[in-house]
Amino acid sequence: MAHPKRIAIIGAGPSGLTAIKSCKEEGFLPVCYERNGVPGGLWRYHDEDIDGVASVMRTTIINTSKEMSAFSDFPPPKEFPNFMHNSKMLEYFMLYAETFNLLRHIR
Ligand SMILES: Cc1cc2nc3c(=O)[nH]c(=O)nc-3n(C[C@H](O)[C@H](O)[C@H](O)COP(=O)(O)OP(=O)(O)OC[C@H]3O[C@@H](n4cnc5c(N)ncnc54)[C@H](O)[C@@H]3O)c2cc1C
Repeated sequence: MAHPKRIAIIGAGPSGLTAIKSCKEEGFLPVCYERNGVPGGLWRYHDEDIDGVASVMRTTIINTSKEMSAFSDFPPPKEFPNFMHNSKMLEYFMLYAETFNLLRHIR
C-alpha cells in the first residue's frame, strides 16, 4: 500500500483542529505547525502583549450560542453554559482534540 500523503496545516486554532481531523478521516497524515506549541488559537487567553499572537480578552464570552458554535460532530458538554466564557471554549477545543486524538499531530 502507498504511504499516506503528508499534509501541512498551519495553526492549531479551531480551524486547524478540524483540518487535522478531516485529513485523518480521508486517510492523509496531517502535520500541524503551531507557533505557540499548544492548540486553542486566540481562545487561549494570555495577559501579556505578544507580537503576532492574538488572544481574546480575559472577560470574553462567546457572542454566538453554544449550539451555533458547536462542531457538528462533537457538541459541547451539556453542563457547559449556552454562552461560554473563553476558558470554557478552550476546554471544549481541548476535549475535541483529545477525543479525536489530534494532539500528536501538532508540532
Ligand atoms: C475577541 C474575539 C471574539 C470572538 N468571538 C467569537 C464568537 O463568539 N463566536 C465565534 O464563532 N467566533 C468568534 N470569534 C472569531 C474567531 O476568530 C474564531 O472563533 C476562531 O478563533 C477562528 O479560528 P482559527 O483557527 O481560524 O484562528 P485562530 O483562533 O486565530 O488560530 C490561529 C492559530 O494559528 C497559529 N498561527 C498563525 N500563524 C502561524 C504560523 N505562521 N505558523 C504557525 N502557527 C501559526 C496561531 O498561533 C493560532 O494558534 C472571535 C474573535 C475574536 C478576536
